[in-house]
Formats: sequence, structure tokens, C-alpha cells
Amino acid sequence: MRRSFALALGILACDEAPPPAPPELAEPAADVAAEPAPEPFVEHTLERGQTLWDVARAYGVTTEAILEANELRPRDVRRLSVGQVLKIPGVTERAEVTRAAEPVPVEELPPLEDGAYHVLAPGETLWDVASTYDKSVDELIERNALDDDGVRALRPGRAIVVPGIRDRDVRRAEPAQVESRGIRHTVARGETIWDLARAFGVSVSQLMAANSLSPDDVAALREGQRLFIPGGGDRSRRSREDRLTPRQRRALADARRLGLGTKEVAQQLLRGQVDPRWMRAAGGNRLPGTLRWPVSNGRFVRGYGSGEGSYHLAVDIAGDIGWNVRAAAPGIVAYSGDEVPGYGFMVLVVHPGGWVTMYAHNSINFVVAGERVPRGAVLAELGSTGISRGPHVHFELMFGGENCDPATLFRPGVRHRSRLARIEQHEWTVRDERPEGLQCDRRRRHPRSRWVIHE
Ligand SMILES: [Zn+2]
Repeated sequence: MRRSFALALGILACDEAPPPAPPELAEPAADVAAEPAPEPFVEHTLERGQTLWDVARAYGVTTEAILEANELRPRDVRRLSVGQVLKIPGVTERAEVTRAAEPVPVEELPPLEDGAYHVLAPGETLWDVASTYDKSVDELIERNALDDDGVRALRPGRAIVVPGIRDRDVRRAEPAQVESRGIRHTVARGETIWDLARAFGVSVSQLMAANSLSPDDVAALREGQRLFIPGGGDRSRRSREDRLTPRQRRALADARRLGLGTKEVAQQLLRGQVDPRWMRAAGGNRLPGTLRWPVSNGRFVRGYGSGEGSYHLAVDIAGDIGWNVRAAAPGIVAYSGDEVPGYGFMVLVVHPGGWVTMYAHNSINFVVAGERVPRGAVLAELGSTGISRGPHVHFELMFGGENCDPATLFRPGVRHRSRLARIEQHEWTVRDERPEGLQCDRRRRHPRSRWVIHE
């Protein structure tokens, strides 16, 4: 446990200086010393056709937890074989493992009062559906009770509830139409799904959905494999503006009116200047109080003030490329882009009361400036763009010209790998009443690096 934790720290440092010993926050010393009772587990023998993902779903645990419990690395997934025995952690009873179920035909689904069913065509993604009906992806995710795994598991034939439409509004996409919205690509030697996502400007989730790939399939991507790249074909011919949904175009118009969305705005926010109009647009004067952990199952790998000379006024949260990065609190997207050096694809959200949060190193951003987002809204896909040594989110909480340690504000608490740390919890709702013990400091230049200019 401690060894792998240190390893993660080594890989995931996001500035140039190797991190020193983790801060006390990052050291779950009490947990280690107490040596708690061993976690229960059952053993599952892999049968023909079962993927790690099927097993994880059946037992209600994450694929990562199974990998960890069996001391497997993601690359080992492709070597799993029939008859192999896997330890399933935290589970006391055996479960029936079936292959990803065949989709239920619409006729057999319960009638809807608040919307209608749209059946996914081959190659069609949740993003396409949102765009077709001018809904946000979040609305669809919420109405269909999808978690991150659920989104990735969407397959052609699956019925999606689209709220606020009637049966006669349902547009059945012809496979040919969907097909025309992308291109076929042959995987080259050493090419990963992440390379393709970046090269074609699509998300990893979209690639997975469009090609019916499970996380195991992604790990086993091989040279010569043919993949469908949704939207990939017309990239050069269409401007970015053309690919936006009507909802996003309206948001961008709002952003222009409010003066949001530019590189200058990003830099202004990093200097701590929040225009009162942005705060009003975000929802008023009362601070959100607490923060949502931005990456479900994401692991806390590096804390506030953990860098050289207590540098790094942020927390780093590790996860897999393609995991959702979610808004820590409600607000308005003030910046979404990659123009600030070092941070790669980055999102800045202004919250009520003037909190600003940052989500950096994403593989792709889903939101545009001017979008109002609820707590938990999907902003981006986790990645490793900019100055980054591995997939993670660099998360900052800024207020009044300072960076604040967000650790005690997270609900649920900070996850140290698979455990919740027993740390103090704070709530901060009134601007002038910062909780005692919540640390904030002025952002300053990195002692050595000319690249890491803003931490
Ligand atoms: Zn960082």
C-alpha cells in the first residue's frame, strides 16, 4: 500500500520538481498503524467471454479495485484468461456474472410521461443524442441514471430516455447518416486510444461508445485494428463553431456578453480578479460551502503545499484517461481551453460568492465558456496534457487573490487511494468567514521552473 502510493506520487507530479515527502495530509498514518481487519473478498473464476468489466459490474466494484486487489496493472488486463481466479475485494457473496446484457427492446420498456425513448444507432454516442435534441449530456446522464461506467457501456440498440420530447419528435438516425459523420481509422503500431482522441479531437468515451469497446478492449488495442472515429472525417472542413450544439452557441453568446472565455480572462482569474458580474451570473453571493470530489474513484496523490518550498497550491487527483472530470460546485464556466502554458486543456469555473475552481491537464474539455453547470456536471475527460507526468486532474480552489487548500471542503472526503482519510471537515458559506484552520496563500512563481508560472 505505502509502496504503491509512493510510486503514484513519483509518476504523477505535475511540475518539474520531484515532490518531497508527502505532507501529513497525504500520509494516512493512523490507518497504517492500526492494521485494520483484512478486507473480505470472494474468488471468482473467469469463464469464457467474461471481461473484467462484466465481473466488476456484477459484483458492484470498480475494475480498478479488482486490479489492485490482484496486483494487476492495466496492461495485464489483456492477459486475463478463462479459468483465472480473481479476488473480488470488499464482497462477501458470489454473484452471477453475465456478458453485457442485450439491450431491452423499446416495446418492453415502461411508458414515459416526461419524455421519449431514443434508440442508439451504431456509432451514435450520448453526445450525438444530446446534440440532436438540444439537451445537455448531463440531463441525459441524470435522467437515465448513468454513472461513468454506464456511459461507457452504452451500445447500439440501447434506449435512452430523452426528457421533454414526445414520441413523434424522436429522430431515428440511419446508420448511413451516423457513418457519414466520421471516418474509419486503422490503428498504427503503438497507437493508443488516447493518441487517437487527441489527434481527432474526440473524447475517449465517444471512441469507446462508437466502437463498442470495453475498458479491457481499450487496453488491448492492437496494430491493424479498424476503428470508427465519430466526427473525425469533417474536422478539417468544419470550424469548431460548427460542431457546437445550439445550447453551447447560446452559452458562448452569454460568455461574450459577460466578457468570459478568453485567455486574458483565464489569466485574470489566476491573478484572483473576479468581476462581480461573473459572480452574479454564477448564482449570487453565498459561497457553495463544500466541494464535490471532482473525479469519482479518483485518488488523492498530491496535496496542497506539497511542492518545493511548500509550492503546489493545489491537489492532484489521479485516475484513468477518459474518466469524467466533474464540477466541484455549481457555477458558470469562465474558461475552457488550452492557451495557458503548462496546464494543457483546462477549465475554470466561477462559483457563487467568488470561488474559482480549476481542472487542468484534461484530455478533452466538454464545456464551453458561458455554460451554467450544476455541482457534479461533467466538464471534461481526465488526461495528461500540458506539463504532466501521468493522467491526473490538477485541481485548484481560488478565492480573493489566494489559493486555498480544498481538502477539508470535499464531500465525500479526500480519497487516499481506496480509503477516506479522517481529516477535519469545513464548510465555508459566508465570504468573510473563512473557517479557522483552512489554509490560503498567495500564488507565486515556481522557485526554479520558468514553465510552472502560475502555481
Ligand atoms: Zn498539480
